[in-house]
Amino acid sequence: MNRIIRGGRLLDIEQHAAEPADILVAGDTVREIGPPGMVAPADAATLDASGRLLMPGLVNAHTHGHNNLAKCVGDRWTLELLLNAAPWVTGGRTLEDKYLSTLIGTVEMVRKGCTAAYDLSFEFPAPTPEGLQAIGQAYADSGMRAVVAPMMADRTFHRAIPGLLDALPAGLRHEAEAMSLEPFESSMAAWEQARSTWPFAHDHVRLALAPTIPHHCSEAFLRAANRAATEHEAGFHIHLAESKVQALAGVRLYGRTQTAWLDSLGVLGPRFTAAHAVWLDRDDMHRLADAGAAVAHNPGSNARLGNGLAAARALLDTGVRVGIGTDACTCSDNLNMFEAMRIASMVSRVQELDYERWLATEEILGMATRGSAGVLGFDDEIGAIEPGRKADIVFLDLAHVNYVPLNDPVNQIVHGEDGTGVESVMIGGRMVLEGRRMLTVDEAKLARDAEAAAERLAAANADTRALMERFEHAVGRYGVEWSREDYHIERHARCTI
Ligand SMILES: [Zn+2]
Repeated sequence: MNRIIRGGRLLDIEQHAAEPADILVAGDTVREIGPPGMVAPADAATLDASGRLLMPGLVNAHTHGHNNLAKCVGDRWTLELLLNAAPWVTGGRTLEDKYLSTLIGTVEMVRKGCTAAYDLSFEFPAPTPEGLQAIGQAYADSGMRAVVAPMMADRTFHRAIPGLLDALPAGLRHEAEAMSLEPFESSMAAWEQARSTWPFAHDHVRLALAPTIPHHCSEAFLRAANRAATEHEAGFHIHLAESKVQALAGVRLYGRTQTAWLDSLGVLGPRFTAAHAVWLDRDDMHRLADAGAAVAHNPGSNARLGNGLAAARALLDTGVRVGIGTDACTCSDNLNMFEAMRIASMVSRVQELDYERWLATEEILGMATRGSAGVLGFDDEIGAIEPGRKADIVFLDLAHVNYVPLNDPVNQIVHGEDGTGVESVMIGGRMVLEGRRMLTVDEAKLARDAEAAAERLAAANADTRALMERFEHAVGRYGVEWSREDYHIERHARCTI
């Protein structure tokens, strides 16, 4: 089917401009861009975009669909307290819950201008082929593109943090010692089965791997996951040096940084994504850059969990590919890529004295579109409105007060937009949101199902929650005390954390 989008103003990120242009969409792909009134095939249906600013769909480089049913459950949580809560936050899920939780996120992301996401989804205690397919189905049904990467670990949180087990009171230590995860071989077998029966088109919903955190995984597991990623050309996404506790754990366990250790295993490469990458030193950045690896920059999450902030400018200077993500509903709460961009901008100014080193709005919007597209491995397929790329287009309402008056569209999108200006969203030539109405998801049913599931899960996980809350004080204080240790890192320029 051919469509001609007429009357809109096409965003030019580099030029901070939005000139009138028509866009011909053939099937799921942008075929041609031309001046207003350009000739279109006779069979092309016209889509009126007058009064609309057309921008490429935002791409979320890091999120967790399983957490959408647990939206905003914690407040003053460090990363360690969040991980401690994982058994009750994500436990007891049915296949329908896994689908539902993911679907909630798709609605929020589409409504806020996002058309593709890297979803590190988690099934407690281990991934299943049916679960992964249900998660993929939620993206397929919503119309969003996604990379679904199951988070996997073969070492429990309490065992993974050096010294934590011994620091727990005896009663809790016994409880922690009784917890276990499946051997990595069964997680990898589930992934392999999911891969071999994956029903979704590669340019729509694809599968990747996410060994969750380096020290939560045995060396044999990381090597096995890397072999699978290499063999099947799949993404490999891991949380790297996210908190100071994790950075210290790397040095304690491996005698070097986590990044150096992963490098020694041969894991770093063009398909490798480091989420967060807050506690990197200069050598770590070079390791990532030399390998062609990417970073998913999640400044909202880093601030919310008190982890510090990634040195985005230094990463870019070093040649690391950078995308922007929201992270999860349990650690940055909304899945609003506009907010993620705004925070990325704000924190870059807090980090640098020299205003010429602050991230510019066109850089940030570039990271949230082309940059994140590269993180997902969609490279030249999405991330821009250009002939040959997929027609993933966000229609912003120029009559919305966010654009009244329209002075600088790029600055206004990054610094002024909060998602309320999104009027319609096209993904692969198909309208997914039109006139602020979701066409692919019954939102009233979604709300009913979500309320019922949240209530049921709260009851089902009540005992687990009570148990994990008994750990909170010991886990939280252990992290705080350990974090007082010095961890010197040398970075480019004058970055602070
Ligand atoms: Zn994450």
